Amino acid sequence: MQKKITQHQLEEWLEHVEPFTQLGRVPDYIPALAKQSPDNIAISVVYKNGECVKAGNLNHTFTLQSISKVIALGLALMDKGEDFVFAKVGMEPTGDPFHSIAKLETTNPSKPLNPMINAGALAVTDMIEGSNPNEKIGRLLSFVHDLAGDNSIEIDMEVAESEFETAYLNRSLGFFMKQTGIVEGDVEELLTTYTRQCSIDVNIQQLARIGAVFANEGKDLETGRQIIPQHLARICKTFMVTCGMYDASGAFAIRVGIPAKSGVSGAIMGSHNDFGGIAVYGAALDEKGNSVVGLQLLEILSSRLDLSIF
Ligand code: GLU
Repeated sequence: MQKKITQHQLEEWLEHVEPFTQLGRVPDYIPALAKQSPDNIAISVVYKNGECVKAGNLNHTFTLQSISKVIALGLALMDKGEDFVFAKVGMEPTGDPFHSIAKLETTNPSKPLNPMINAGALAVTDMIEGSNPNEKIGRLLSFVHDLAGDNSIEIDMEVAESEFETAYLNRSLGFFMKQTGIVEGDVEELLTTYTRQCSIDVNIQQLARIGAVFANEGKDLETGRQIIPQHLARICKTFMVTCGMYDASGAFAIRVGIPAKSGVSGAIMGSHNDFGGIAVYGAALDEKGNSVVGLQLLEILSSRLDLSIF
């Protein structure tokens, strides 16, 4: 039986977590993100029948950041197939921060440990079909449109440019992997595609709907069209469980137990096969890079509705 929540419940939970907006920090390593206010908070649930409940700052938009890694992985898997993708990127959690370069040198054979850390995500974005960044990002954006059921989603170019200019670590990862043959294309072009991918701008409902399609075995909620094959949607959700919440994925699995992917913009997308898609947002992050408010909201949701998949 479908578990459900009401808008009133969501509003109550938002009120309850409001004091947490004062905890944590808005990240400043991407200048355009440093301008986000921690006071904007929101939550949305989209059930697999397309029905939606939401509360908070509903018109506020934020960039996908690392949540885009799940979507890019889905597209690269469809473009190139599992064998190609996993010949270049591993399937194991790292326990290191998301932008760490350390394991690239010490892992043998030298390949990023998984597609949810920046090294792995850059390698995956490099695999997306297209002869230049515009073509690649165009394809990724139309995949996002299909998943969200909304063609109005765009890239926040201010964030993309700010991120491109300051992507020192991501450039290092890209050049390291170019040397080792993991990255095949031009590194600056890869950085252009990757920073735009991270800067895809969504609102809370659009994000929850993307989560709902992954929950719905990759099928469109209204038409039932297979947007991403079921087994590939499953691979994406499995990475969300093992590596989706940075190096706090283990604790999150215990406390919340919902496949989820977090981004430094302060958004988290959850995808629960029975319940549906979930999105939470609050810009201030804890020391691991996860939204403080977002974590609180997901803990409440999971415990009240007994949603842990474990
Ligand atoms: N664009 C960000 C970066 O590559 C994404 C990081 C994140 O959300 O974890 O640094």
